[in-house]
Amino acid sequence: MKYISTRGQAPELTFEEAMLTGLARDGGLYVPAEIPQMSLGDIASLAGQPYEHVAFRVMRPFIGETFTDAEFQDIIALAYAGFGHDARAPLVQLNEGHYLLELFHGPTLAFKDFAMQLIGQLFEEALKRRGDRVTIVGATSGDTGSAAIEAFRGLDAVDVFILYPHGRISEVQRRQMTTPTEANVHALAVDGDFDDCQARVKDMFNDFDFRDDVRLSGVNSINWARVLAQVVYYFSSAVSLGAPHRRVSFTVPTGNFGDIFAGYIAKRMGLPIERLVVATNQNDILHRCLNGQGYHKGETIPSISPSMDIQVSSNFERALFDAYDRDGGAVAQLMEELRSGGFEVSQGAMQALREQYDSGRVSEEETHQAIADWLGRSGELLCPHSAVGVHVAEALRDKAVPMVTLATAHPAKFPAAVEAASGVHPPLPPRMSDLYERSERVTRIANDLGALQDHIRGQIAN
Ligand SMILES: *Cc1c(COP(=O)(O)O)cnc(C)c1O
Repeated sequence: MKYISTRGQAPELTFEEAMLTGLARDGGLYVPAEIPQMSLGDIASLAGQPYEHVAFRVMRPFIGETFTDAEFQDIIALAYAGFGHDARAPLVQLNEGHYLLELFHGPTLAFKDFAMQLIGQLFEEALKRRGDRVTIVGATSGDTGSAAIEAFRGLDAVDVFILYPHGRISEVQRRQMTTPTEANVHALAVDGDFDDCQARVKDMFNDFDFRDDVRLSGVNSINWARVLAQVVYYFSSAVSLGAPHRRVSFTVPTGNFGDIFAGYIAKRMGLPIERLVVATNQNDILHRCLNGQGYHKGETIPSISPSMDIQVSSNFERALFDAYDRDGGAVAQLMEELRSGGFEVSQGAMQALREQYDSGRVSEEETHQAIADWLGRSGELLCPHSAVGVHVAEALRDKAVPMVTLATAHPAKFPAAVEAASGVHPPLPPRMSDLYERSERVTRIANDLGALQDHIRGQIAN
């Protein structure tokens, strides 16, 4: 299995290389050169199987020679052992024909645990074999950083540094990053906003001396292994609703387009998915683009679903690559235009995108209302991101086809917004109810490249 860049100028890599590299050298994103197929019989045989079994069957063809079957099975078992639900990704019914896929039973209560827990084990295994170590540096607005620290804590081959904007993330998110006690994970509270954090991480990757010196690596949402891990729950949920004998649709609260793109991969592998629906909050660049208005950056407006407050949706490049018939030159040109504000999508590519994706946009008021409504209608307390999805799904769904909305976080991760909307304070699951009592460990640091680099070098020398 070979991986190619969406901009067509970087070397082809194996799964292992693409995973450890993250971003391609031409600035593009790695995608599989071909999409492995699952027959209807293969899909039908997943019914009633444990999540780990489905994970193995779905992901195995993508990893090529990187791991043996036995190694990969062990990696998967370790990745999901810490989840608080035997089903890993349970499905609950909201009303007739509408189901919620609960992706928040991992250790940090958001769907990012599905990918990050797997990536932690994949990195550890691959690096140990190579006798190598890496330093992972990432920026977070909350969920990615906590999932990364949780996934890599205590592993031997990796040091992790997560930059977050001081004072601008929720207390649960902060505590999930600052309370792990293992010496290889480090939370850095930067005096700046999320864009500053992201810019400093980029600066570190562009400083090639530093990059080589500390063996810098990344696990942000463009890493192919993260997308791959998310393909699994489209299969597990569709099969439990009768696939492949029955078609199923999905609605996905979307920011960086990673989660919904995983659904597209599932469909390309042969899973009979009827519609894939992109749900955005008021930061609706994807919804506008899918409506034919081009892809133009605006100002990010903070919302009560902050993990979707983005303007440049990094994984959308993968969707564009396929919509432009895998023409890397065309994609490189669009990304160049994006640097100065935006681009128009060609008519042919627009048609290709519309064949795959529908979209809807939800206002703050509607999000608020959806949380209150669904508590009354079904007893489900939705997090604000999941509420965006459920609202769009109800508006757009065809009642003849079962709709699955992805619930991307546990309501207790966003207690203030949930309580304001519903009057109910969402409690943390019992297994982490002492989060507010654990002591915190964090380094407050200036928004300054030199200070950050000195700190990181100092810590990994110990
Ligand atoms: C990251 C995140 C999203 C957006 O997912 P993408 O893969 O970036 O589209 C939605 N909801 C929550 C809770 C998240 O953490």
